[in-house]
Order: sequence, then structure tokens, then C-alpha cells
Amino acid sequence: MPGMDNSSPAAVAGTAAHEALELALKSGKLITESLADFPEMVEVASAALHEVEERSIGAKLVASEVQLAPFPGIPEVWGTADAVIVRERELEVIDLKTGIGIIEADAPQLKIYSLLAREAFGSRPDGVVTTIVQPAARHDDGPVRSYRYSNPDLDDFAMELRRRVVVTQRPDAPRVAGGHCKFCKAAPTCEALKAHVFAGFHVVTPAEQAEDAELAELLDSAEPVTGWAKAVKDEALRRALDGHSIPGWKLVRRRGRRVWADEEAAVNTLMRAGLSPTDLFEPTVLRSPAQVENMLRYSDSRKTLRSLVEMRPGEIALVRENEPGEPVSRVRPGATFDGVRVVVEDDL
Ligand code: SF4
Repeated sequence: MPGMDNSSPAAVAGTAAHEALELALKSGKLITESLADFPEMVEVASAALHEVEERSIGAKLVASEVQLAPFPGIPEVWGTADAVIVRERELEVIDLKTGIGIIEADAPQLKIYSLLAREAFGSRPDGVVTTIVQPAARHDDGPVRSYRYSNPDLDDFAMELRRRVVVTQRPDAPRVAGGHCKFCKAAPTCEALKAHVFAGFHVVTPAEQAEDAELAELLDSAEPVTGWAKAVKDEALRRALDGHSIPGWKLVRRRGRRVWADEEAAVNTLMRAGLSPTDLFEPTVLRSPAQVENMLRYSDSRKTLRSLVEMRPGEIALVRENEPGEPVSRVRPGATFDGVRVVVEDDL
């Protein structure tokens, strides 16, 4: 499979969270300042740190940011686990997921990590537990989910993996398009993805006039289109910046914005001119409960925090029927599409 694209804003924020977690696991404290540009990641990294620490109690060994060497005979299959915990009877692989798209603990990636961890740390009688920590996703089983692979499961999987890798190395290896394509650098030029994207567009009715079932089909088709269109635009921009001429398109510089040439000098000069700090600075913003909780993690005052915090209802989302989350009520009677359900908060 061609290379993965790790340059999206979500990927950059995810990388920052993983780096913060790695440092925190080494130092025992999350440095929230390192996530100043990604405040939403403080809670995510903090939850992962807490989980690894809890699960490490009594363990023989805890390793963080573990470079798992390629599987013997398959150099393409390797990985980096956020943490591996070695216990007497089992190994546990812990992986932080920063996105909202649900990843289950028995996902293929974690299954592969289980195999690699077993190679690296040695087999244990009770096999390998995989644990996903995914605070941002709404899952019926909560933000932390685990799955256990027995050793026979992993032996069978190793054989299957070898067989599949041999197939992917053939020049005529089949390309199977799907949700995973959004990470693929070959997406803009991949015929399999293009065919997948347009396969659903036989429905020509304008959306407002579509039957519910047609609308559901359009929703199914629209998801890959969005990712594919972005991949095409990103590729065109990359080529244009490399000097290619894209017919009908041009590079322009967006309007710039004014910034202080020297902030300290500006403040001094403007205060001498009669402006006060209140005039010059934005009001201080209270940090989020997660950020404050992390600061108080070793303090008794942490208990006080609970009485100061309330849970506000989340935003309304339209999700697939097979995705986790309780339907709370419908906006209007009959607003149910085939395979898709409208989810709204009770109190609306
Ligand atoms: S099918 Fe998807 S993942 Fe495979 S090469 Fe095409 S775009 Fe990439």
C-alpha cells in the first residue's frame, strides 16, 4: 500500500499528543505547555497517561514508545506502540488514538502489534491484551477498551499475514478502496478509489427531493468523495508549488494579516501612549477542567474539582446506525433513513 499521509491538522495534533504522552511516561508528568497549540489534546494525553500508569502497577516491565521490529521475514510489517506492559502471564499493548473515528481494540493494527510485541518481549501463557485509549470518541464501552488474543489466535494470524503480504507484493495486487483510503498518498490517482467514489452516484435526484432511502445512498457516496476531493486538491497544490501548470488554476497569495513586529516594544510604546494593559491584552481564558485536573493530579484539591464541573450535552450528530451511541430521540417523527439514524439530545 502506498505511503500514508500524516500532514493533516488532525495528524499534526495527534503527533503532538503522542509526543507529550511519550515525555509524560518518561517523566511521570504531562507538560501541558507542550500542547499549547492543541488544547483539546491535553485531556486526550492525560487520559492515556493515567491509563498506562494504572495498568503498570505490579508489572515486570513497562516500555513506552516501543519501536517494534519488523516481523521475521516480513520487513514491511513493523510498528511503534505507545506502551507495552510486560506481566508474568501476559503482555499488554496500549495504543492512544486521538481521533473521533472509532477504533476497536481488536483492530488489525493492534493485532499486528500483538504479534510484534510477542516477538520482542517473548510469549506469555495468557497471550496479549490490546488496549485502545480513545478519549475523543463516543463509544458505548467508554474511552478505554481491551481485547485479548490467545497464543493460538496469534499463531493463526501470523500465517494469514504472511499469505496476505505475499499477495500484496504481486504487481497485479488488488486495490481495495474504503475508509482507509483517506490516509493514502496514492488517493488522488488511484483508479480503485475513483471507481469506489463514483459507484454510488447513480442517484441523480436533488437532495431536497430525494426519498429517505435515496438520501441514505447519497450519504454513503458522499463520505469517500469528500476525502478524495481533498486529496486531489492537495496533490494539485503540491504540483503547482513544484512549478507545474494546472490548466484553469493558478497560485495566489491570500491576503496577509498585520502582526506586531516586536510585541514587547509595542506594549511599552502603546502604554506610554496612554493605553492600559486591559486595553492591550485579551481577557484571560480559564483553562479547561482537563487541564486543571492534570495540574492537580497529585493534590487533594483534585476532589474539589468534581463539584465545580458539569457535563454539558454534546452536539447533535448524524451517525451510521451501526456506530456506537444511544439514540436519544428524533427531531421529528419519521426522520429515520435506511441505515442511518438522526440522533438529537433529549432536551431539545
Ligand atoms: S485503494 Fe485506497 S488505500 Fe489502496 S492504493 Fe487506492 S487509495 Fe490507496
